Amino acid sequence: MHPFTWFLILYTGSALLAIAGLWFYYEKREKRVFDVRRKRRIFHCVRCGELYSVRKKDVSDGQPCPKCEYNNFELSF
Ligand SMILES: [Zn+2]
Repeated sequence: MHPFTWFLILYTGSALLAIAGLWFYYEKREKRVFDVRRKRRIFHCVRCGELYSVRKKDVSDGQPCPKCEYNNFELSF
């Protein structure tokens, strides 16, 4: 085979690998951003009106307000 053909194969091969790598990277980053957003729980204090959020899995027993310590329950949309 002509050496130039090998060069072409290697060149296109590495270009494809680079694209696949970038694709993987963005896919993973997108997923991570989405996970962080999904895990965020939003609370609204019924006593002082403070809006706050926490990154917690289990908030079924509520979360105290950072301002007045009043225990609020998660907002559901
Ligand atoms: Zn409050």
